[in-house]
Order: sequence, then C-alpha cells, then structure tokens
Amino acid sequence: MRGWEKYVRRVEPYVPGEQPKGNRLIKLNTNENPYPPSPKAVAALQAMEMDALRKYPDPAAAGLKKALADYYGLAANQIFTGVGSDDVLGMAFLTFFNGDKPILFPDVTYSFYPVWADLFRIPYKMPALDEAFQIRAEDYFQENGGIIFPNPNAPTGLLMEQGRVEEIVRKNPDAVVIVDEAYIDFGGESALPLIENYDNLLVVQTFSKSRSMAGVRIGYAMGNPALIEAMENVRYSYNSYTMNLPSQILGAEAVKDQEYFSQTVEKIRKTREETKHWMRKLGFSFPDSQANFLFASHEKLDAFTLFHALKQEQIFVRYFPKPRLDRFLRITIGTDQEMEVLKQFLEKYIRQV
Ligand code: PMP
Repeated sequence: MRGWEKYVRRVEPYVPGEQPKGNRLIKLNTNENPYPPSPKAVAALQAMEMDALRKYPDPAAAGLKKALADYYGLAANQIFTGVGSDDVLGMAFLTFFNGDKPILFPDVTYSFYPVWADLFRIPYKMPALDEAFQIRAEDYFQENGGIIFPNPNAPTGLLMEQGRVEEIVRKNPDAVVIVDEAYIDFGGESALPLIENYDNLLVVQTFSKSRSMAGVRIGYAMGNPALIEAMENVRYSYNSYTMNLPSQILGAEAVKDQEYFSQTVEKIRKTREETKHWMRKLGFSFPDSQANFLFASHEKLDAFTLFHALKQEQIFVRYFPKPRLDRFLRITIGTDQEMEVLKQFLEKYIRQV
C-alpha cells in the first residue's frame, strides 16, 4: 500500500446506464426522452454569439431562474439550479443532511442516494417498500436526520398521492424532506404548491426527461428562500460557475416553449398507456407506472436472459442485478416506432421459449 492511500476517500461509485454508440440501436435504458429538444431552444443556441464563450457565465443563472420563476409562478429566490438534478441532489445532501440521526429513503429507489450518503458520511436507513412496491408513508414518521424519495419512485414508476406526501412533510418539521420529481411531468401532481406552507420541503426536478435535454445537464430545486439560500452558500463554496452559458440559454428557452413541452409529454404518456396494454397481453406484469418507463417482469421469462436477447437485437433496456429487482427489466418509453420494434421482437421471443 502506498503511503498516501490511507488518506484516499473510499467510495463505491454510482454506475450510470450504458451509452451504446450506433445509429440503428433502440435505446430504452436510461429514461431519456425519444423526441428532440424544443426547436426554439435549439434556435436560441444557434443564435448565440460564440464570443460570449470567452467570458465566465452568470454564476446566478439569472435568465434560466427567471424563466423557471415565470413558469411556476415563483420568485427567483425560491429556485436553485444545477448541472442536472444529480448535481442539485448532491448539493442538497451536502447542505441539509448534516445531523447524527440517519436519513431515510426507500430500499428500492434511485440508486444514487446511498452513494451520496456514503460519500458525505451520512448515516441512513432504508425502509422497505410494501409487497406492491409502494412507499409506506408511516415508515417516515420515525426520528430522522432528513428524508428523500422520488415521486414517482424509480425504478417502479409508482406515484404517491399528494396527501401522503404532505403527511410526510407535515410530520417532519425538523427535517428537510426532498421530493425528487424527475418524472412528475409524465403523470403526477407536483408537491410544489406545498412549498408555500412548509419551509422544510424541497422539490427537485430536471430537464433530462420531460424536456428532452439529458445531454445539457440542467436540474433545479424549489423551496423556501431560506432553504435555497443555504444551498447557494454551499454551492458558492464549492463551484460558483456551476452552469455553462449554452446550458443557461437552452434551458431558459426550453421552459418558455410550453406548447412543445406539453405535446411531447402527451405523446409519451399515450405511448406508455398503449405499451402497458400490449405488454399485459403478452403476459408481462408491472406496477402502474406514471413515469416514462415500465418496470416489467414475466412469469415465464428470465429477465437477465431476455435482457441479453434484446441487446443482441440492439434493443437496450436496464437490468438491476439486485435482490427483489432481478426479475424485472426497466424499459423506457420510446417513440411509437421503437415500441413497435420491441413488441415484434417480444412476440417472436415468447413464441420461441
Ligand atoms: N432522480 C431520479 C429518480 C432519476 O432517475 C434520475 C435519472 N438518472 C435523476 C434524479 C438524475 O437525473 P439528471 O441528473 O439527469 O437530472
């Protein structure tokens, strides 16, 4: 062992989904949006003066915050922006989860949560989902140093109803409750209105899914100005020029293009419901997802074998080699044409096994 190795921060990193290269592949493995970003956002980027890149970007991302504030009817000091919601969530862990008591998040959820907790040396407990894969709100009425869960949850896609979310926030006035709404635009009621009544609620969203901009990396948090200020203080102590100029331009223009956003989200919801219908007919079962993916299992098919068979056909989905999850494949909702290719493959595959 080298001398310096004992001072290294040991972490088990988060493993992102594969980003395979090629034109013909069907990529349903990382919950991206199959449709392009808003044409208006793209046009604004193309109109950007390249000379502007010479200077540092606005550290406060004021243009982007103003667009978000106008869209949600908030003040700019109720909004925090970051490089994808991963950055925002990481900053929120660092800012708010500083106590000795364990923070709480579900045992089946976004697998980055335990990674941040380990990185920042935050103790945590993971209450188990019930048999139907639902989060049990009562599990979050115990003593804790903070709470985080996605709504809808990942990788199940299941939505917790607004009343239950509010109960968790109300019963934990001394802890920050983070609701990770990465997928909320695909079919749920956002907890956002609750930030007016609860100063311990932070709602986090992203441009990666419903706004077709995973490659741009924009995420944001909304909450009481005191929460936002605490996060800004941590951010300015770490990296003040968080978001680059092209991202700020793309983000602001994308938010303004509400019509394109609604059309895209509507198409995905429609394809999702159609996909549920034919997948059920093929013998698959899954929680009733309100997100842009399905978490599906089949009583006669081995998930890992099917995962590889799909890959052979250049159809990429996500498989989690973990207890309780290893019977399932997480399948992102693509375009109608992509889902048709998947359907035809599965019909043939099921006939053969
Ligand atoms: N939260 C959840 C629940 C997610 O599934 C993801 C996507 N991996 C993220 C946050 C992070 O997304 P992004 O950093 O692209 O905003």
